[in-house]
Amino acid sequence: MSRIAFIGLGNMGAPMALNLLKAGHTLGVFDLVKPAVEKAAQAGAKAAATAQACVAGAEIVISMLPASIHVETLYLGESGLLRAIEGGALVIDCSTIAPQSAKAVAQAAAARGLAMLDAPVSGGTAGAAAGTLTFIVGGDAPALERARPVLAAMGKNIFHAGGHGAGQTAKICNNMMLGIQMAGLAEALALGTANGLDAKVLSEIMSKSSGRNWALEVYNPYPGVMENVPAARGYSGGFGVDLMLKDLGLAAESAMATRSSIPLGELARNLYALHSAGGAGSLDFSSILRLLKRTV
Ligand code: NAD
Repeated sequence: MSRIAFIGLGNMGAPMALNLLKAGHTLGVFDLVKPAVEKAAQAGAKAAATAQACVAGAEIVISMLPASIHVETLYLGESGLLRAIEGGALVIDCSTIAPQSAKAVAQAAAARGLAMLDAPVSGGTAGAAAGTLTFIVGGDAPALERARPVLAAMGKNIFHAGGHGAGQTAKICNNMMLGIQMAGLAEALALGTANGLDAKVLSEIMSKSSGRNWALEVYNPYPGVMENVPAARGYSGGFGVDLMLKDLGLAAESAMATRSSIPLGELARNLYALHSAGGAGSLDFSSILRLLKRTV
C-alpha cells in the first residue's frame, strides 16, 4: 500500500479518492473547496490545509484539476508543488489538459528527479464511482508500472498511449468524438420527438440499430429515458459543458498545430460554445439537447 496525496476533489476526483481509500492506501487530500476536503476526511482521508502540506511524505501524488492553467499553476514556478514533492516520488496528473502543458510539467518534474505521467481518464463520474475508469497514459513504461497498482484501484482499463503528452492527445481525440456523438444523438432525439416519437422507444430502436453509440447506451440526454444519468437530475453533476468546450478547444489547437481538418469537431465546439454562452456552462454536456429542443 502507498502513501498517496490527492489534489482536486471535484466531480471526478472525489470518487476516485474514495476508491483509493477503499483499496487500503493512506490518503492525504487537498482542494481549494473546503467542504470537498471535509467530506473526504469523513471517509477516512487526512485533510490538508495546503497542497504543500498534502504532498509531504507522499510516495505518489495524484492531481485531478479542471484545465492546463490549474495544473501548470499548481506544479510550476517558484512556489510550485514540484519543489515540495519528495525526491523519488511519482506524480500522476489525471486532468485533461493540453499535451504541451503535460510535456512541460513532466520536463520540469524530470529536472527535479521526479517521474511524471499524464493519465487522463474516460468513463465519467459513474465510472469514477464504480472504479471502472479507463486510464490513457503518457510517459515512461517503468513509471507506468509503478503507477499500475494505484490506477487499478480506480479503473478497469489502463492504456499506454506513448511518451509524455500522448495520453492527452488520445484523450482529446476520444472526447472530440464524444462531443460530436452527443450533439448528433441530441439532434436525432429532438427530431424524433418533434415528429411524435417517444424518446424511450426511439432510444431502444437506435440502440439495436446502426445508430448505436456510447452516449445512447449509458448517458442518454433525454430526461425520463434513463435513471442515474445527469438528464434525470436536471443535468447536474456529470461532465460540464465548459469542460467539454475546453476539450474541443484542445482538439482545435492540436488540429491547428498539425494542419489537420476537424470539421465536425469544430462544429461541435461552436454548438457547445453557443450553449455555454446561453448560461449552460456548468450543466452536464448532455444538456446540449436543450439547444435543439427548448422544452426539455
Ligand atoms: P470539477 O470542476 O468538478 O473539479 C475540479 C476540482 O479541482 C474542483 O473541486 C476545484 O476546486 C479543484 N481545484 C482547482 N484548482 C485547484 C488547486 N490549485 N488546488 C486544489 N484544487 C483545485 O471537474 P471534474 O469534472 O472533476 O473534472 C476534472 C478533470 O477531469 C477535468 O480536466 C475534466 O476535463 C476531466 N474529466 C472529467 C470527466 C467528468 O465526467 N466530469 C470525465 C473525464 C475527464
